[in-house]
Amino acid sequence: MSAPGDTPYGPAQPDGDSASLGGVHIKYLHHCPRQLWLYGRGYRPEHRSELVAFGEVVDDTTFIRRRDIDLGEAKIDWVTTGAIVHETKSSRAPSPAHAAQVRHYCLLLERRGITVRGGTVHYPLIRRTTDVPWDDDARAEAENAEAQAHAVLAATTPPPHLARRECRGCSYLDYCWGD
Ligand code: SF4
Repeated sequence: MSAPGDTPYGPAQPDGDSASLGGVHIKYLHHCPRQLWLYGRGYRPEHRSELVAFGEVVDDTTFIRRRDIDLGEAKIDWVTTGAIVHETKSSRAPSPAHAAQVRHYCLLLERRGITVRGGTVHYPLIRRTTDVPWDDDARAEAENAEAQAHAVLAATTPPPHLARRECRGCSYLDYCWGD
């Protein structure tokens, strides 16, 4: 029988290992648990991905006066007065994964004693921003995502593939499908 907080990949992990989870872990969890599992085992095809390289160019040239906040396990694009977390994406489509990543950063900052007000995801290519609220519900979502990510990473076998059509653009295509 499963316990509250258990995930499809095993029991939810207790808090305490959160220092090892960065925003990429949370983003991959939402995109594909298998991607998170592979990433957790050191598989890094990102440097060969044109999509990632394009994202880095957008990231580097859009907000030249911003300053990264390096938390060790996570690098936040920047934080403005009142503790609003900012994240820039090269995507043309807002995604739940982007908001989840910002919530994870809010959680990490709050654990360092910072009173967080929320977050904003910037999409410079479509000149759009989306706000990410930070409240009790958002905190619970962030904690749940963290527990799920730990469970995926602790699994001894990789989670199943997504349907092939959902793998489009994934930098792990060659590993999963031999492309
Ligand atoms: S190729 Fe598909 S199954 Fe493999 S990690 Fe990427 S999204 Fe997941």
